[in-house]
Amino acid sequence: MTADVLSPRIEAATVRWHEGVPESVRFGDVYFSRDNGLAESRYVFLDNNGLPERFSTVPAGGNFVIAESGFGTGLNFLAAWQAWRDHGPEHAASLHFISVERFPLTREDLSKALDLWPELSALASQLIDHYPPLIRGVHRILFDAGRVRLTLYFGDILEAWQALTFQADAWFLDGFAPSMNPEMWLDQAMTAIRAHSKPGTTLATFTSVGRIRRALASTGFEMQKTRGYGRKRDMLIGKLPAGTEVGDTATPGSVAIVGSGIAGCLLARNLAERGVPVTLVDSSPEAGSGASGNRQGATYVKLGVEFNDQTELALSALMFSQRIYRAYTEDYWHPTGLLQLAWNEQEADRQQRFLTRNDYPGEVLYPVTQEQATQLTGVPTQSGGLWFPRSGWLEPSELCKSLAQHPGIKRIFDFKVTALTPSQGQWRLSSATAADLIADRVVVCAGHVTPELLPIPGEFRFKSIRGQVSHLEEKQVRTPKAVICGPRYLNPVHEGVAVTGATFDLRDMNPAPTAASNEQNLSELETMLPDILIDQSNTGEPIEGRVGFRCTTHDYQPVADQLQDKDGNPVRGMYLFTGLGSKGLTYAPLLAEYLADWLSGQPRCLSRNLARRVASRRMHRTYENDSGS
Ligand code: SAM
Repeated sequence: MTADVLSPRIEAATVRWHEGVPESVRFGDVYFSRDNGLAESRYVFLDNNGLPERFSTVPAGGNFVIAESGFGTGLNFLAAWQAWRDHGPEHAASLHFISVERFPLTREDLSKALDLWPELSALASQLIDHYPPLIRGVHRILFDAGRVRLTLYFGDILEAWQALTFQADAWFLDGFAPSMNPEMWLDQAMTAIRAHSKPGTTLATFTSVGRIRRALASTGFEMQKTRGYGRKRDMLIGKLPAGTEVGDTATPGSVAIVGSGIAGCLLARNLAERGVPVTLVDSSPEAGSGASGNRQGATYVKLGVEFNDQTELALSALMFSQRIYRAYTEDYWHPTGLLQLAWNEQEADRQQRFLTRNDYPGEVLYPVTQEQATQLTGVPTQSGGLWFPRSGWLEPSELCKSLAQHPGIKRIFDFKVTALTPSQGQWRLSSATAADLIADRVVVCAGHVTPELLPIPGEFRFKSIRGQVSHLEEKQVRTPKAVICGPRYLNPVHEGVAVTGATFDLRDMNPAPTAASNEQNLSELETMLPDILIDQSNTGEPIEGRVGFRCTTHDYQPVADQLQDKDGNPVRGMYLFTGLGSKGLTYAPLLAEYLADWLSGQPRCLSRNLARRVASRRMHRTYENDSGS
């Protein structure tokens, strides 16, 4: 695949309804049995994989992984989720459900199909509500506060099993009939299934075709025919013999997180909710005191004209952040919509090229005229732009404080880490003022201070960039209803103040707000929105500002990875999560999820390609081979 022909949107299924049951026009087969799809799903896939009995034995902090070929209407997923609710353990544990779909149903068809199952309606409505836009690649969706994690890969089956990192406990092989849908049943797919399995992994499928049985048997599954559902005589089940490999049974060890900005707080909360013991350490007296300490911040990314790995990462992060922050809508998240203004010729031209090359679903973004932009934002704009209906602004400082409050998070504040040293297979965190802390693993999320803390020699390519925001009062600015972004961003007013910013000051380490930076913000704001400032000559009050230091990287891509030395050797138990630049509020949720997946030994929410974009090795000044997109 070349970057120039790839568009983000994936082709939807064409569904026809026949005798009340959805069928695929392309494949000429039904999504589920005409008799009773739900009963069939429970019999074929749950019962024949020993579920839900196996759910109840998942230990605290553990997880159970189901992988499915063919998401279709999501019926199997809902049946498994309901069984996990009814029979899963009481303690912290996750059900992972990983599924692939080459032709996803539209939300409307999904909703119509799931209407057939009133007993699943409470779960179905959540699935429909969180169903991702039809964009190719990986979508991670959390339900029941993370007790259920759905990883949905929109794309071809072989591509999916190649891109994803996971080991399944049970497989649901649910393509259409092999005669109508041969690509789902290729030998390479069976080999990939084996590669993503471990000793004792089971599988079940409605088909009893001999070729499939033999192909799975040849990979090592002990295959067996068993009675099919309803009028179907046979189906297949399989199991990998136990004890052929060493399984990953270790319970996750403790994690210390250095830095309580948005990255550290999201990661700490995520791990704590999965039952991993976490200590959150910061030199400040409370969470969200550094660059994440602003009163307002926009969830914004600039999507590339080419749909390459970098664009895909930004887009995945944007969609995931919008889903995650929904839980805070009553408190700190304000999904007002966001306008990326075509504020000068160059940006208008870029947006034009972007729109010509890419086909994005309207729920992600769509172009708007100047009149529409003015109407959507409630303030006069000189041009149109791109409208992101699900974006908005956040109260990052308040959110960080709230995330850090969890019984599973031990908070150690006023602790300035001076050294991280390996100590008998663990890590020692030292400070000048308090007793040392010990943890099995350490994640450094210390923003621009990060390079000072790395316990390996080397020169790193992190840059610290000063950013000052300005606090405008209502009498100083016409405040918009939605976030507007251009050379500056402007937020809607909140508690009498609208935050605009931020300056971009390389090689300036002044932590105090300055009048010059405020002036720069106002001047850029006026360039972007000429009529926005109300005449200040009669107010005479100085403008308040706040300074933060962003941590950026040479390629403006974040870092979320195990630390590697310059030769590419991983540093045991040491991880990096930083380099988020000015896009931290958008990138942090997805990358926190990814690192939490990794640290808890669970399936990962980033494809291998996107994981390469956030690798730590590229931070060594001597590392040249950065070709990966
Ligand atoms: N498990 C689904 C449910 O609970 O509704 C039903 C799955 S349906 C029988 C098979 C699905 O496999 C269809 O949605 C189809 O689009 C999908 N599919 C077919 N070929 C594929 C391929 N090459 N890669 C990924 N998915 C594919």
